[in-house]
Amino acid sequence: MIQIDGSVGEAGGQILRTAVALSAVTQKPCRIFNIRKGRPQPGLKHQHLEAIKAVQTLCDADVAGLEIGSTEITFAPGKIKSGEIKVNIPTAGSISLVLQAMMIPALHAESPVKIIFKGGATHGKWAPPINYVKSVLLPLLEKMGYKMSLIVKKYGYYPSGDAVVEVEIMPAKLAALNLIERGKLLSITGITHASLALKNASVAERQETSAAKEIKGGINIVPDITAVYTDTASLGSGVELEAVFEHTILGANALGERNKSAEKVGMEAARALLEQINSTAAVDEYAEDQLLPYMALAAPSRIRAPKITSHTRTNIWVIEKFLPVKFMIDEDEKIISVV
Ligand code: ATP
Repeated sequence: MIQIDGSVGEAGGQILRTAVALSAVTQKPCRIFNIRKGRPQPGLKHQHLEAIKAVQTLCDADVAGLEIGSTEITFAPGKIKSGEIKVNIPTAGSISLVLQAMMIPALHAESPVKIIFKGGATHGKWAPPINYVKSVLLPLLEKMGYKMSLIVKKYGYYPSGDAVVEVEIMPAKLAALNLIERGKLLSITGITHASLALKNASVAERQETSAAKEIKGGINIVPDITAVYTDTASLGSGVELEAVFEHTILGANALGERNKSAEKVGMEAARALLEQINSTAAVDEYAEDQLLPYMALAAPSRIRAPKITSHTRTNIWVIEKFLPVKFMIDEDEKIISVV
């Protein structure tokens, strides 16, 4: 049984998601202890529980210790199934993070895996917005041969969640990823979104105007940002932007909050994107850690990152426990490679 100490490095939820995903792929059981020891409230929270339960359903795993607050689980995977899986998330847990755990094993099913998410949030703090998964992570994975459709039927914000998202993942054998040069900047695209109840206050448009002004001022490009209003259980808003280069896509995003103006949300997203553009990186700081398991499954692969994050170092540590690979980090060039 592979032993994973959850207090290592970032000591957060990602250790769990990567571990159970790769446990399913390699069919090696694992024990994870000291779960989320680096966080103020250690142990499993709803969101982590949902991710583990979803992978458990996907691969018929025997799991012990699966309860809120648990600091230790064992996960013994069975065969990865195909067909339709329903994932119900009763809280505002992030759908993207549950998906982060499922996307890796689903690739190894015999035929397509359809996942219907009911409940959960499409947007929340410290998690990839669902549009980031669709417009940044997925296009990068498509370069490796990953195939997934993703439809957001209903947006969901904190605290109610209540989103509906449908995903279909095709079985595939991944090809190596080599993302060192980004080529010319072609366009800036994005989505500005808000609850229907915020339409009278023109929240989506104000976010857009402010993001566009900031981008225009920074790099003299007029971005193509689509405004979306949807009927949601809790009020919310946000902006997700992408810098589309010849060979890659970099993303940045910002979330609306009480007492934060729509203008500030737009400006934050735009400034974060400009920062990514001003680096020499070929992936943004979030895709950096999220791509690593796929790169390991399709080694040799390499990417140029903006900075080496603690999520990245920790994810590498987990991946090397499961797969016969070796990661190398060129700290000067910020190139992460795996053989
Ligand atoms: P914990 O509650 O322990 O922090 P968690 O599961 O919520 O656990 P992390 O372990 O910190 O969170 O993992 C967060 C993941 O979300 C990482 O893969 C990170 O790259 C991604 N992420 C965080 N913020 C963003 C963002 N704004 N855009 C895209 N991806 C993001």
